[in-house]
Amino acid sequence: MPLYRFSLVMSVMTLLLYNIPFFRFVVSHSELPAFRLALFTLSLALIMVALNFLVCYLLVFLTRYVGRTIVALSHVLNATCVYFVVVYNTLMDGSMMGNVFNTRYSEASGFFSAPLFLCMFFLGIVPAAYVLLQKIDYGKWKTFGVAAGTSLGVSLLLVLLNFNQFLWIGQYDTELGGLLMPWSYTINTCRIAAQHHQANAEEIILPEASFRNDDKEAVVLVIGESARRDNFSLYGYEKNTNPRLSQMSDVMPLMARSCATYTTAGVKCILEYADKSQLYEILPNYLFRNGADVSWRTSNWGEPPVHVDEYLSRGDLAKIYADEDEHYDGMLFAGVKERIEQSHKNKVLIVIHTSTSHGPRYDQQYPAEFEVFKPVCRSVEEGRDNIEGLVNAYDNSVVYTDFLLSQLIDTLRTMDDWKTSMLFVSDHGESLGENGLFMHGVPLSIAPKEQYEIPFLVWTSDSLRSLKHDNAEIDQHYVFHTVLGLLSVDSPVYDADKDIFDF
Ligand SMILES: [Zn+2]
Repeated sequence: MPLYRFSLVMSVMTLLLYNIPFFRFVVSHSELPAFRLALFTLSLALIMVALNFLVCYLLVFLTRYVGRTIVALSHVLNATCVYFVVVYNTLMDGSMMGNVFNTRYSEASGFFSAPLFLCMFFLGIVPAAYVLLQKIDYGKWKTFGVAAGTSLGVSLLLVLLNFNQFLWIGQYDTELGGLLMPWSYTINTCRIAAQHHQANAEEIILPEASFRNDDKEAVVLVIGESARRDNFSLYGYEKNTNPRLSQMSDVMPLMARSCATYTTAGVKCILEYADKSQLYEILPNYLFRNGADVSWRTSNWGEPPVHVDEYLSRGDLAKIYADEDEHYDGMLFAGVKERIEQSHKNKVLIVIHTSTSHGPRYDQQYPAEFEVFKPVCRSVEEGRDNIEGLVNAYDNSVVYTDFLLSQLIDTLRTMDDWKTSMLFVSDHGESLGENGLFMHGVPLSIAPKEQYEIPFLVWTSDSLRSLKHDNAEIDQHYVFHTVLGLLSVDSPVYDADKDIFDF
C-alpha cells in the first residue's frame, strides 16, 4: 500500500473510531442554525483528517518503523481513552493527565474490567497489529511534498473559512481539547511535563533583603484579568463603571501598559523586578524568603511557581469563609482584614489573582446585582453579532471589580494599627470587537492598544506618601519596586526610579 493511502486510512480510522464523542459535543453545544452547524462540523472533520494525515505521513515517511510503532501505540491509547470518555464521561484534559501520572497501580487496577479489555482489543490492538503488519511503499520525496503541501493547504483554508467560530472554540477549549484524540492526551501530557519542569526550574535568587523598621505595614496586590483601561470611568470612560472608586479622592489611577497580551507573561512581568527572559525570584517568593508574611489567593492560573506557605484557591477559601459565594471573585477578598491582623509578622503581602473580566462569557463573572448595563449577551454566538451586549456584560464585570476594590479599601481604612496599601494592576487588556478582534493574545508588536493599555490603581493609608509619576505611562515592573517601598524593604535590586511614590 502506498504511504499516502495508508496515512489516509489511519486518519479516517482515527476520526471514526475515536472522535465520535468530540463531534457529539460540538453538535450538542453549538448554537449555530442546522445548515451552518453541518458546514462547521464538516470543516472540523476535514481539518482533523487533513492534519492527522499529515502527521502520520510525516512520522512514517521520516522514521519508518519508529513512526509505525508510534501510530500503532496511539491506537491502543486512543481506544483506552475513548473507553473512559464514553463510560466515565472524563475529559483527557490537563488535570486528568495529572491524575493519570500520579495514580498508583492499586488504584488504576480498580478500573480493569472485561468491557475495557474488549474495547482495547478491538479498537486498539487490532488496528495496531494492522499498522505494524501492513506492507507499505514509502514513496519518494516528491510525493511526500505534494501530500504534505496539499493537506496543510486544505487545513489552513478551512481554518480561515471558520475563523468566526474562534470565540466559540475559545469558550469550550478545555472540553474540545479533552475529547480530541490523540491530541488530548498527547498535548496535555506535554503540558504536564512542561509544568513539572517549570515548577522545578531553579529560579535565580535575588540578593538578601532586610526591613528598615518594625512598623506594621501591609500591601494587598490585586492582579486583574483582562481588565482594560478604556472601560474604567476613572480613565474617562463615558459609562459609569466605577461608581464607588470614583467617589474616593485618594484612589490614584495611573497610566500603564502591560508587557504582554497573555496571562502567563503579564503576571510574570507584574511579579519580577525587571524584564528578564530567565526566571528570577518573584516578588512573593522574595519577600517570603526574607521574612515577610505572604499569602496568595487565586481564582486564576499561569503565575510563575509560588513558594510561600499559604496558597489558597477560591475552593480552599470557600472552606474557611462559608458565607461568601464560591462562584465569584468576592470569595478571594473574604477575611483579608482578619488575615492581616492575625499575622505574627509586621510586614504582610497578600496577592489576590482574580479572573473577574475573563472572557468570553463576561456575564458569568459577576453576581446578578452587578448587572447594571443591559441587555447583556448570554452566549458566545450572540456576542459576535451583538457587540453592545458583549460590551455591557464586560462593563458589568468592571462594575463588580469596582465594588470589590472599593470594599477592600474601605476595610483597609479601618485598620488603624497598620499602614495599608492596595495596588490593582491588570495582566493585559482585552479586545471587544474592535477591528473584528476579541479577547487577547495578539503578539505585542502588532497588538491593538486595547490589549495592552491597562488600569493601574493605587491607594495607600499613608498620607505622607506622594506620587512621583503622575502622567508618564509606566510598566508592570513598577509593582515590584513600589511594594518593596511600601513595606520598607532595603534591597540591592530596589530601584527608586520604579517606585511610584516619592517617599
Ligand atoms: Zn489574562
